[in-house]
Amino acid sequence: MALDKYIRIVPDFPKEGIVFKDITPLLLDPEGRKECLTMLLSSLHSKKIDKVIGVESRGFFFGMLLAEALQVGFIPVRKPKKLPFTTISASYDLEYGTDALEIHTDAIQKGDRVLIHDDVLATGGTAKAVCELVEQLGGEIVQLNFLMEIPFLKGRDKIKNYEIFAAMQ
Ligand code: IMP
Repeated sequence: MALDKYIRIVPDFPKEGIVFKDITPLLLDPEGRKECLTMLLSSLHSKKIDKVIGVESRGFFFGMLLAEALQVGFIPVRKPKKLPFTTISASYDLEYGTDALEIHTDAIQKGDRVLIHDDVLATGGTAKAVCELVEQLGGEIVQLNFLMEIPFLKGRDKIKNYEIFAAMQ
């Protein structure tokens, strides 16, 4: 299934040397969205999921579609000082810079089975930080899934103890 046709490659964004994978053509196309969502859902093999996390900001799009399809709660994991209630925080290295991510402390109950979704797996720093947040709150990570993985950046190495699925490479 060729989902790649929905991804636009933008050189030197957001800065020189970065080859940015732009998912907005996929968002524009209902057929592409449906294909992609079906792939992500079937990769779960009907495993029980209690909550879906979407990572700010491009992880929100399909994160919410997944939560809706699975009829479970959606949790936004956000950049610092965006969430209004009590949060915990984890810092991480990005392909371009460093940052931190936060989650509401009441978003996950002990033993919740959590699916983590983001658009792109690059170096894996972001995904690892989200795993730390989930486990600090006592959640169990069922799978991390991505629209796209950039294999040469070896992001999988940072999250190798978890099940990983990417709809595109
Ligand atoms: P990582 O922490 O290096 O794995 O980077 C993953 C995070 O950076 C994700 O939240 C992505 O949204 C973002 N990211 C990195 N590279 C790209 C890209 O080429 N396109 C879109 N997002 C990207």
